[in-house]
Amino acid sequence: MRKTLVWVRQDIRLLDHPALHAAAKEGDVALIYTIDESKDNRPLGRASKWWLKQSLDAFKEQAPLIVKRGEPLTILKSVIESLSIDQVFWNRCYTPYEIQRDTKIKKELQSCVKVQSFNGSLLAEPWEIKNQKGEPFKVFTPFWKTLQKHLEVKVLQPTQIKWLEHQIQDDDYTDLHPQHPDWSAGMQKAWTPGKEGAKQRLEIFLKESLGEYAKGRDFLDEQKTSRLSPHLHFGEISPRQILNAVSKKTQDANTEKFLAELGWREFSYHLLYHFPQIINAPLREEFKRFPWSDNATHLKAWQKGKTGVPVVDAAMQELWVTGYMHNRARMIVASFLTKHLLIPWQEGEAWFWDTLCDADPANNSASWQWVSGCGADAAPYFRIFNPVLQGEKFDPSGKYVRKWVPKLANLPDKFLHCPWNADEETLRAAGLVLGKDYPKPIVDLKEGRDRALKAFETIKK
Ligand SMILES: Cc1cc2nc3c(=O)[nH]c(=O)nc-3n(C[C@H](O)[C@H](O)[C@H](O)COP(=O)(O)OP(=O)(O)OC[C@H]3O[C@@H](n4cnc5c(N)ncnc54)[C@H](O)[C@@H]3O)c2cc1C
Repeated sequence: MRKTLVWVRQDIRLLDHPALHAAAKEGDVALIYTIDESKDNRPLGRASKWWLKQSLDAFKEQAPLIVKRGEPLTILKSVIESLSIDQVFWNRCYTPYEIQRDTKIKKELQSCVKVQSFNGSLLAEPWEIKNQKGEPFKVFTPFWKTLQKHLEVKVLQPTQIKWLEHQIQDDDYTDLHPQHPDWSAGMQKAWTPGKEGAKQRLEIFLKESLGEYAKGRDFLDEQKTSRLSPHLHFGEISPRQILNAVSKKTQDANTEKFLAELGWREFSYHLLYHFPQIINAPLREEFKRFPWSDNATHLKAWQKGKTGVPVVDAAMQELWVTGYMHNRARMIVASFLTKHLLIPWQEGEAWFWDTLCDADPANNSASWQWVSGCGADAAPYFRIFNPVLQGEKFDPSGKYVRKWVPKLANLPDKFLHCPWNADEETLRAAGLVLGKDYPKPIVDLKEGRDRALKAFETIKK
């Protein structure tokens, strides 16, 4: 019988948890979560901190988790000593910082205990999927085709766990809750962090939305996507549990599309692992020469949802209130920021990092690079979303804009996505004075588009 310390990280769950599963088979188990405050670690954003606090609280109701904060190696060493631990297990993480940290920790700890790591977050390890030349993929479709050959649908069966008794006190983590301002009420209303919330989301999605996913997923005025992203990011549910549940449904275009989205998550991690620079630098080198603008006023207007472009402002408001934004809306606001406003994608990535509950180092940087044209298999830079047409197409009822920008609620559909085209009488009837009740657009959409195309010309070889 051995005593195992399982280091919980992006896998805050008990089921389908390879490290915990292996530990439980070998004897007594203690669980620890470390809030990593090392100076080289990118601090969590405020919305992620809110989620983490709730998630840890929920997990502690199911299992005796020790929560400590500080530098993980020091914490692990101290717990190993106090509990006379024989071995330390964890599931792998994949950012450049975490890989370096965990490699160092493994090396240090191996002199006194056995250390073993597992794959608990991905459908396949980034190094398992290679093209015919043995190189990493940079294009999604062949990556996904190859990965599909490796898919393991079976989840680990629940095991009896014997918890190690201990007297170790938690460090206080109540300050993860947002302070000054505490804007968490909207997130609280929208989400239930923890495995119960994840389970409910999955069940509702499978029952109500999966059958219309392929078409419905793009519409802003409907909720046809799973909203599993924060649960997946924090590992409250594993991708394999989702794959397993979906595999029990009739396989059609909807299941295929949904699984492909899980595939994009895998692709982002594949890219991050093989091209770690993408965390803050463009994958396509020529974008290092791109003539970005550093207009702080425009950036602020975008962050606060005050650009005067309704669908953009609605999306930024949805983000601020709920800690989430619909995927189509993410593409629209990212295109607007990096193309119409010429603001570097890293600024958008940083705002998303701070305000998204699902802020994820791989998905966020890969997706920002995808939209702004500088990433792998990216949308070409010259494909610039017209936010008015996007709004008209994907929020045809206007429900999305009316919900998040109530000032525009009384505008007729015809002008909802372009209030600047409405005549005085229409505006008056809607109780709206542009420039007072709602901003005039901060950029002329045609001029912004032309300027972006010209900027792009300068980096073409
Ligand atoms: C600019 C930008 C930034 C983004 N930042 C993040 C981020 O920080 N964290 C994050 O999880 N996703 C991010 N995405 C991807 C995507 O928008 C979200 O994963 C999705 O909207 C989450 O909603 P859902 O769970 O309902 O998705 P569903 O449509 O139900 O998809 C199921 C799961 O597949 C994964 N997924 C879906 N779309 C993508 C995608 N395009 N790329 C990678 N994985 C995907 C997610 O894990 C998601 O939960 C970003 C997209 C853009 C355009």
